[in-house]
Formats: sequence, structure tokens, C-alpha cells
Amino acid sequence: MSLAKRRGFVFQSSEIYGGLGSVWDYGPLGVELKKNIKERWWRSMVHERHDIEGLDAAILMHPKVWEASGHVSGFTDPLVDCKQCKNRFRADDPRIKGTPGQPDAQCPVCGSKGTLTAPRQFNLMFKTFMGPVEDQAAVVYLRPETAQGIYVNYLNVQQSSRQKIPFGIAQIGKAFRNEITPGNFIFRTREFEQMEMQFFVKPGTENEWFDTWRAERMNWVKGLGIREEKLRWHQHGKDELAHYAADAYDIQYEFPFGWQEFEGIHNRTDFDLSNHQQHAGKKLEYLDPKTNEKFLPYVVETSAGADRTTLVVLCDAYREEEVRGEEAAEGGEQRVVLKLKPSLAPLKAAVFPLVNKDGMPELAHRIHDDLRRHFNVFYDDGGSIGRRYRRQDEAGTPYGVTIDGQSTQDQTVTVRDRDTLKQDRVSTGKLVEYLTQKLAG
Ligand SMILES: [Zn+2]
Repeated sequence: MSLAKRRGFVFQSSEIYGGLGSVWDYGPLGVELKKNIKERWWRSMVHERHDIEGLDAAILMHPKVWEASGHVSGFTDPLVDCKQCKNRFRADDPRIKGTPGQPDAQCPVCGSKGTLTAPRQFNLMFKTFMGPVEDQAAVVYLRPETAQGIYVNYLNVQQSSRQKIPFGIAQIGKAFRNEITPGNFIFRTREFEQMEMQFFVKPGTENEWFDTWRAERMNWVKGLGIREEKLRWHQHGKDELAHYAADAYDIQYEFPFGWQEFEGIHNRTDFDLSNHQQHAGKKLEYLDPKTNEKFLPYVVETSAGADRTTLVVLCDAYREEEVRGEEAAEGGEQRVVLKLKPSLAPLKAAVFPLVNKDGMPELAHRIHDDLRRHFNVFYDDGGSIGRRYRRQDEAGTPYGVTIDGQSTQDQTVTVRDRDTLKQDRVSTGKLVEYLTQKLAG
């Protein structure tokens, strides 16, 4: 978290006012990293597949959507209040001793006994008001998942894109949940971004597609460069399944705070479509053009958190290590480095004039101007070269381009590799090609 703030990945929301609980802002490097992850997801889910279409539905939806989806009645957490200190807890908070509502229960904050109420259901959706006058206006919700925007549009998408079942709809967007115990940095936040894909299949084929999508998604996650020993599957037990799911597997990562999920693959059956069909009074059946058969599709969902995936990538890349070789003498023996996959790194290269004289800054600026037309690159002429390297190590920048005394003579530069610390001498005319090759994948 300290590095994330220092290098401009993530800041606390409204920090100058003391922050807003579990809401975070992405800084200059964070927005690039998250965008690279989202673009990679979109490319693999939409552009590289003939059977998935993209969608960007609005955050605000008709309030009946959330009655049909079961979120008004079912998207709740049991909470208990302390009558003494007025704090509120999840009923399953492990810090609570005894049974809430009984005299033996002890408040984990003020320590009072018998002051905890029996659990009450608390809805996790954020409410707001639509229309100019608050007390006459309709209550609308900030969507707690992007999936419903896909379900209510599935026939629009299917008919306009002339897709045939099986096919999917993919969407990236914000969702909101009024979590009572959020935390662990950007892991559990009240405002977050989802990368969801709903795959519509013929009933009876859902188990096959479920297995296919589990394999596809794990491959994609491994393609982010995540260490395999830090990844595992977790199948939901009956008591863990969401109200809409018949089967669910999470992909978990071993975070510094333990194994936690960051993506789920769910068999949602025809739960959502049949409820929308009933509540909206509109037929949502698919007509198979080959067999003339009408049916309500089953849905296999892949649901990933963009923020959580970003946290996985950050945690997995973070290393503290000893600097070896030539650089050890220059600055500090220890370094912190983000070993991000180069294609995900916010900055692809940093350009350093060794010293600010002898024509080096002029050449360095020319090289920077040339490179920035191809990659997101950074110019840094502040402090010793060793310190500049260390800053870019912390930013995860895979390549450092240094313009030295020789550069102004023969138009070559050194390119330093973030991970191996090895340096290549590359002619300035070949630099774009050299970096393009290194950054592929
Ligand atoms: Zn209390």
C-alpha cells in the first residue's frame, strides 16, 4: 500500500478529508495498469472470439430489475448492532464471542456483555433517487453487479448481432455494494469494477460449457504472469452458493492476507432470465432457427473483479531483493521491484540522460519524443542514475534507456532490463523495433 501510494498506483479517496471508507482512487500508474488488464480481458473475451459480443449497459436500471433478480429480497447480510457503542457488525464476525441477542454475547469493540442485538437482514444495495423532488422520486439502485444489464439486453444483442446460441455477452463496468466489513485495500471495496461475461447455452449443455469456461479463465489468469503456486480453485459448498447459482468455482490467489477469490465461474441456470420473463411479462425465449425449438437459455457466467485482478497482479509482482552486479555499488544494496509482465506494465520504458549536459538532454528528449508515439514512456533526469533506476523498479517499468557520453558520438543507447539488470547497447534507429519485440506477449 505504501508503494502504491508513493509511486502513484492507488490513493485513498478524498484523502485530505480523512478518506472515505474503503473507496480508492487510481493514480497515474494505477489507471494504466488497470486499463492494460481490462484491455487484455476485452481482447481475449470479445475481439478474439466470434461467439461473444460486447456491451456497455447503464449503471442505473429500472428498479424492478432488482426485484426480479432477487437482489431486493435476497442480497442481504445478517448484521448485529451494539446498543452500547452503536457499532455494527456482521453476525458472523469472528471477533464476536457468544451468541448475538443473548446475554453472553460480548461486543468486540467496547467489550460490553449482552448489548448485541439479534441478527437483522441488511440489504447491500446502494439506493438513490431519480427525479427532481426527493420524496416523490422513484428509488433506484446503483447496480450491485453488471450481469443484469446483460440479461435484460440479451435478445437485443442476439438479434442485432445475429448470434446463435451458444453465444456470450461481455461487459466491463462499475458496480456498488454497501459492504459492512470492507477492507484489505482494493480487495473489498464499496465501489468496484467488474469484468463479466454471460454465456447463453442450450439447457442440458451447461455443465460442458461450465468446464470449458473454467479452463479458459484459468488460462487467461496464468497468461497475466501470475505464479501458478499462488493460484487454486475453490468450489462453493451449498452454504456458500449465491441465490442464483447452481454451481460455482472461484479462482483464488494467495494474498498477503490469505487465500481469497478474485474471479468466479458460475452456473446461473435460467434463474435470471425466467425471473425477468415473469416480472417483465415479456417472452425471453430463444428460437432455434434450425429446429424451430423455443427455449429459455441457461447461463454460464465468468465474473472477475478488475480491482481484485489488479491487486493480484500487484501483489504477485512485488519483490524485495538484493541488488547484484554493477548496480550494487551505485545505490542501495536492497531494492523493491515490481516484476510486472512487460505488456501489463504502466510504463514500458524510462528515458534517462546520464548527466544534464554535453548534448545528452537534447538527444534524450528526441528519443523520448520518438518512443512516446509508440509506447507509454517516462522521462527522468532527476538525481543519480542509480536512484532513477530504483524509482522505475518500483513502478515496474521493464526497460531503462540511458543516454550517455558514447550516445552523442555514435547514436547508441544502453537498454537496461528491470529483472536481469543486464544492459544492451542498441542503436537509436533500432530502439522502437527492439522494444516492440521485448514487449510482445
Ligand atoms: Zn459495543
